[in-house]
Amino acid sequence: EAKRNGRNKAQFYRPEFSQKTQEKVVLGQALRQAIDHREFSLVFQPKCRLGNGHLVGVEALLRWRHPTLGLLLPDRFIRVAEHSGQIVEIGRWVLESACKAIVRFNKNRAHPITVAVNISPKQITTGALTGHIRQALEASGCRPAWLEIEITEGILLQDSKSVQETLSTISSMGVSIAVDDFGTGHSALAYIDRFPINVVKIDRSFTMSIDRDRRKAALVRAFVSLADALDLSVVAEGVENSEQVRLLRRFGCEIGQGYFYSKPMSAPALARRYGLLRGRAVRPRRTAPPE
Ligand code: C2E
Ligand code: MG
Ligand code: MG
Ligand code: MG
Repeated sequence: EAKRNGRNKAQFYRPEFSQKTQEKVVLGQALRQAIDHREFSLVFQPKCRLGNGHLVGVEALLRWRHPTLGLLLPDRFIRVAEHSGQIVEIGRWVLESACKAIVRFNKNRAHPITVAVNISPKQITTGALTGHIRQALEASGCRPAWLEIEITEGILLQDSKSVQETLSTISSMGVSIAVDDFGTGHSALAYIDRFPINVVKIDRSFTMSIDRDRRKAALVRAFVSLADALDLSVVAEGVENSEQVRLLRRFGCEIGQGYFYSKPMSAPALARRYGLLRGRAVRPRRTAPPE
């Protein structure tokens, strides 16, 4: 591929791949200081009951304010961090920050909400995750039941003893486990039964099509009934319109996340919008504020 590009382009044009490689090196170096320089932050996206729009939890999503490149989304840097192994320390920071935030949100709340944290496979395979979760819970006073981790199907397909043990330990601590982007991987559904899974999050690529594509809708309906049969709860991600809400409810899905309810927002914005710091639940508005 590199050779083909090289042959067809003049020498002074850098082929695509080397720009990408360069960016990776630059970002990799900048990542080293990002935690110490307080360049990371979390935004929180509501998960709402599809029936009445009530807030049931939030997903913590990582943002990186790079000193010169500005605000970067995870798609730009998570892979770099995974490749270099820095994701383990970054993931630890995310766990600690998310736990601290949820403790503040749930203060004086009659019905506590949960916080979901995305976990990279590397955090599991290096063996660091269990300890990091325990420390994050202890340091913040977060109840295990308030924390949920989101993992991807890929890690479950490895089906190794150590993955199984790690997830069992985390589950026995009282932290719940969600399978993120469900339906996009090599969905070997058998894994669901071998691991202590509590939640499946149906990928946005399904949710966004159910109002236009009968086959996708049929798949979502099947996912939901499978989940019901296995006593799992289902979250639909990427809910963007009321027709999707109507169909999801008809299929028996109870919880949704997406721009229809809210874009991800900062902790203070979330607290203002949902009255979290005053300890009362507020019905969400429909319009999403800017991120
Ligand atoms: P994800 O876990 O599937 O998170 C959902 C992503 O979809 C978020 O993008 C969110 O902003 C976006 N989204 C939510 N609702 C809608 C919608 O209605 N329409 C559309 N078009 N998009 C929607 P974001 O924040 O850019 O994160 C992208 C991915 O990066 C996440 O996908 C997750 O896999 C990863 N990620 C985010 N934070 C972390 C982290 O702290 N650690 C790790 N390891 N990965 C993270
Ligand atoms: Mg997620
Ligand atoms: Mg997801
Ligand atoms: Mg996704």
